[in-house]
Amino acid sequence: MIDDETPVLDNHLHLDPDNHRGIDAVRDFVRVDGTHMLVVNKPSWHLGVEADEGEDFRPVFERTLEIVADASAELPGRAWPVLGVHPGLISRLVDERGYAPEEAREIMQGGIDVAAEYVESGDALALKSGRPHYEVTDDVWAASNAVMRRAFERGADLDCAVQLHAEGGEDLTEVTEWAEAAGLPAHKVVKHYAGGRLEGPIPSVIGEKDELERAAERGEPFLMETDYIDDPDRPGAVLGPKTVPRRVAWLLENGYDDAIRNAHVETPKRVYGIDTESTLERA
Ligand SMILES: [Zn+2]
Repeated sequence: MIDDETPVLDNHLHLDPDNHRGIDAVRDFVRVDGTHMLVVNKPSWHLGVEADEGEDFRPVFERTLEIVADASAELPGRAWPVLGVHPGLISRLVDERGYAPEEAREIMQGGIDVAAEYVESGDALALKSGRPHYEVTDDVWAASNAVMRRAFERGADLDCAVQLHAEGGEDLTEVTEWAEAAGLPAHKVVKHYAGGRLEGPIPSVIGEKDELERAAERGEPFLMETDYIDDPDRPGAVLGPKTVPRRVAWLLENGYDDAIRNAHVETPKRVYGIDTESTLERA
């Protein structure tokens, strides 16, 4: 059972009220005792934005801030925006739009810089970056790593966390070494869509029972997420918005109280500096 004092945070999901469920998905989350969420902007091209420079991301970010305000109004806790550039954009820019990898790098780094402006003004909580999880050419790989390192530099300047979309596996210490070289501590780097065990970044564990159990048993800092994508074309492709609260209830039933405090209070505080307890007021 989730009691009134227990915050329940989905660390990574998308909301798209213009094309799909939007705030209805938030209501579903609240109905099963979800309280807080980190809302990540959808990939720019999913919203019909074909970026040719960093400034082109601004309307995507602005819309995300509005959606987060609407979500917060429904939540007994609140929502925060995470803004950035999806690493898959590089393939779209290079393979479909004819940009050279270095040009694509510049466009995407420009997007990271604009996202960082919103963190600086206090409107966004964290940055989103990463690198393709699929096979790419050496040039595209180098450009992607350069984009990610720009995000680490901005994160270090602003003392904010960076969520990463990256390849699978259980060791990403190479990447957190780059973050630390830029001045961003490893515990401010979060690997989204992670399994239960990971060296390097903090894993944001996808809401599957065996992976969550692995993270809970391990006892290291972790977060929980659905990566709910709110896309009408892919209704069954990802976990639904009720998944994190349901998995929290399941973990509590199985005695993992410490793991719930870890993933929903302590790790959010350590990574993002957010307080999920003082911002919670269940009716
Ligand atoms: Zn996502």
